[in-house]
Amino acid sequence: MANSVYIDGKLVPADQATVSVFDHGLLYGDGVFEGIRVYGGNVFLLAEHVDRLYESARSIRLEIPISNQQMVSAVNETVQANGIDDGYVRLVVTRGSGTLGLDIRKTSNPIVIIIADTITLYPPEIYERGMELVTAGTIRNHPGALNPRIKSLNYLNNILAKIEGTDAGCVEALMLNHNGEVAECTGDNVFIIKDGLIRTPSTEAGILEGITRNTVIDLAREAGHEVQETTLVQEDIYTADECFLTGTAAEVIAVVSLDGRTIGDGTPGPITRDLLARFEALTRGK
Ligand code: PMP
Repeated sequence: MANSVYIDGKLVPADQATVSVFDHGLLYGDGVFEGIRVYGGNVFLLAEHVDRLYESARSIRLEIPISNQQMVSAVNETVQANGIDDGYVRLVVTRGSGTLGLDIRKTSNPIVIIIADTITLYPPEIYERGMELVTAGTIRNHPGALNPRIKSLNYLNNILAKIEGTDAGCVEALMLNHNGEVAECTGDNVFIIKDGLIRTPSTEAGILEGITRNTVIDLAREAGHEVQETTLVQEDIYTADECFLTGTAAEVIAVVSLDGRTIGDGTPGPITRDLLARFEALTRGK
């Protein structure tokens, strides 16, 4: 466990890092967050994650009490204080405490929390053999209700789909949008490869615009691949040559079946493996 946690402007021992039961982050899931990786003591794509945090906050009319630059410094300070070399940072900003009721004008003092810790990854055999997925019956939040672009503290939509995945013996689940199109997984973005062409749902599908997704799109294009951000349906995944997921925690991970149907030859494909190697080179200098 982390030994010190940044909360409300200072680093305190982890067991003293507490928030009020009147905090609207707890009462209503009213707040925003980010998950970031640390590789070799460096916080990977910190500026991108901090920018997304401030964008999420803006979308929900939450004013973060410190500047973007102060946030960057606080994250680095917390990582160093915990001696994290390879690990994970969780950044959380809650609406702060208020009276019972939804009115944000009756809350004060948004709380900034930074936890730097180790990370639990998917089991290594899933990276070697590839992941099996099921499609969840729970659809992704309608963008007109709670836009998936906002990384808010209300993750019940994803949790309900994840339960369906774990009930089916899978570690992830595919989520469709309100039009029945492929959106993303509960905590990862999805890509397919067909006839050498890499395709992933566009942000209009109602997804979180993953930072790993964008990094992998850049890596793929640098490697000479064509990448299309487009509409995908389940059938495109069933008939793909390769499929993989991207995410801060997952990095790049092959998917070898969806709903019991084998994708490609049922093993992690060559382009997926190449992109994972390029991602590892970028993050770990391998
Ligand atoms: N989609 C969802 C719903 C997520 O929560 C995440 C982050 N865990 C992702 C996609 C991947 O985004 P990133 O690459 O920025 O971690």
